[in-house]
Amino acid sequence: MSIPIQKLKNVGPQRAVLLQKMGLWTVEDLLSYYPKRYEDRRLMRKINQVRSGEALTLMGTITRIEELKTGKKILITKTWVEDDTGTIPAVWFNQPFLKRQLHPGQKIVLYGKIDDKYFRPQLMVEEYDIGEKDNLLPDGRIIPVYGTTEKLPQKILRKIINDAVAQYAPKAAEMLSEEMREKFHLMGKAAALAQIHFPVSFEEQRAARYRLAFEELYLLQRAILAKSHKEGKTGIRHRHDDKILKNFTALLPFPLTGAQKKVIGEIYQDMESPQPMSRLVQGDVGSGKTLVAAAALYKAAISGFQGVMMVPTEILARQHYERLSPLLRKLDICVCCLTGSASAKERENIEEAIRQGEMDVVVGTHALIQERMVFRSLGLAVTDEQHRFGVLQRSELQAKGNDPDVLVMTATPIPRSLALTLYGDLDLSVIDEMPPGRKSIKTYAVGYEMEARIMAFIKKEIDQGRQVYIVCPLVEESETLDLQSAYRLAEHLAQDDFFGLNVALLHGKMRTEEKDKVMKSFRDGEIHVLVATTVIEVGIDVPNASVMLVRDAERFGLAQLHQLRGRVGRGDQQSYCILMHQAKSPDALKRMKIMETTDDGFKIAEADLDLRGPGDFCGTRQHGLPELKVADIVGDYEILELARQEAYNYLSSSLR
Ligand code: ADP
Ligand code: MG
Repeated sequence: MSIPIQKLKNVGPQRAVLLQKMGLWTVEDLLSYYPKRYEDRRLMRKINQVRSGEALTLMGTITRIEELKTGKKILITKTWVEDDTGTIPAVWFNQPFLKRQLHPGQKIVLYGKIDDKYFRPQLMVEEYDIGEKDNLLPDGRIIPVYGTTEKLPQKILRKIINDAVAQYAPKAAEMLSEEMREKFHLMGKAAALAQIHFPVSFEEQRAARYRLAFEELYLLQRAILAKSHKEGKTGIRHRHDDKILKNFTALLPFPLTGAQKKVIGEIYQDMESPQPMSRLVQGDVGSGKTLVAAAALYKAAISGFQGVMMVPTEILARQHYERLSPLLRKLDICVCCLTGSASAKERENIEEAIRQGEMDVVVGTHALIQERMVFRSLGLAVTDEQHRFGVLQRSELQAKGNDPDVLVMTATPIPRSLALTLYGDLDLSVIDEMPPGRKSIKTYAVGYEMEARIMAFIKKEIDQGRQVYIVCPLVEESETLDLQSAYRLAEHLAQDDFFGLNVALLHGKMRTEEKDKVMKSFRDGEIHVLVATTVIEVGIDVPNASVMLVRDAERFGLAQLHQLRGRVGRGDQQSYCILMHQAKSPDALKRMKIMETTDDGFKIAEADLDLRGPGDFCGTRQHGLPELKVADIVGDYEILELARQEAYNYLSSSLR
């Protein structure tokens, strides 16, 4: 059924063009053009007539606004609204942005419930609308409000959609089986469309929305899972032997955390089974993912297969290599490192060794997925810091073997809901515990007027034997300018604030040997202050570093700031993250606040997602995250999980 909008009453050529500009070409488009919100015009009251417990609409003028914080971290926004009969306080919870939106003198329409627990009646706001609302008259219904353009008035669009729903909703294709609808108490498609556009009550509207979100997420998950669900795939069966983990842990200077053990257990189980593993390991910065990967690589090698670990930067490749190779060498495993900057000769040697199977474990960058790379027997492909790679690169690595086991690791904690959408074809393991003894990092967002004090503080830390990162601002996506400002800063610091100390510069355009040298002397404690562009963002691990200073922090996104902060707090001393900023926009200020008040990567990720929307979130557009019409990937994750299970069942049974 694909009916052009011109077929509808009230849609002539001119309106058709307006609708098309909004992306609405067919009747189906219109049916799934859901209201932005609703206005409940069933009960309109004057302020002196309100009764406790009543749900109603009020209209008035704002006279005063106040914000209160309660002990339980609840933010209350209280606004006094006045009409010609009296004044009433209207109350919102935890909506910090309101303070920016509401101003005395504004006309406001409020919908909510009257509560008189506290001395006098107040309106607990559920919906509101600001601006000149003279056209808002009670007409006894819940009214949909659509996004529209100036030329197409709300009233007309509403009428057009009303006609479309009346005529075509009953004919809409039902995508969910009767069985599924019964199981989850979902309304039929036709009813859902009618109730989401013109609900008879908010309960019906919610039920309709639930059903449509379910459908949307179910179809999405079916598409994602279908990609990975190949019939009767058999992969590699890695060796089962309890000694493997014992031998591995025996080499470590510390016991594994419970979470590391749990996740390694999940991975080992997958690796031993004949089906190819596809597992995503999520763990906050510093949770110890590298060892989890090492344990998996060891198992692959012991089983007679090659393992490969792909990382996004050269510095990280070197670091992993330097940590893994001494460890694994003690277990008679050969490890090598391959990056784009190896000389032609080196490259050839390494590639040959890999082809011949002389190397058991290879750590490297994108160089690993180049066409001429051939593995003798690739059994395990690990991708670290997955968010830096596209889905395509992951599968290119996978294609270097014959259905090898796949392990994907990410430190950018993605809200579970989004992980399921982005990586719906992967099973999920979470390292939800930090190694013991970590102190939480103290974070301060400060203005530049504090610079002198901050520098003095940093100096004191260095005097106590600590080391410091200073991250330079991003200059409008220009690497050359970034570089210049980094040079200037390093020079200035060496001559002024940190005179007599070792200040070094690390940036993306340095040659590998130079980078290695700098990183090595920083790790060895010879460099006191490392001035860096964001090349250090992912992975770097120097436990003695105790201060991360980020300049112009307002230019960085939350995920990035959290990653940067994760470079410190890796030892047992108190560590600090200082965000020097000149933030003015509300969003930037909010980011600073979030960084100051939470160090939980998952909470930060959710906040990030909230602020930016799923499209922008860690470049998800590149990951092909589809635009969702009704489902909200964060808020609807419970539906997402149910829908995912159903999609899985559907695909399994259709294969049988
Ligand atoms: P991630 O990659 O998850 O950010 P890393 O693997 O770099 O974290 O580990 C962070 C630091 O914690 C490293 O210095 C590592 O040696 C240390 N570490 C890892 N596991 C443990 C453990 N079980 N106990 C103590 N320290 C650990
Ligand atoms: Mg890491």
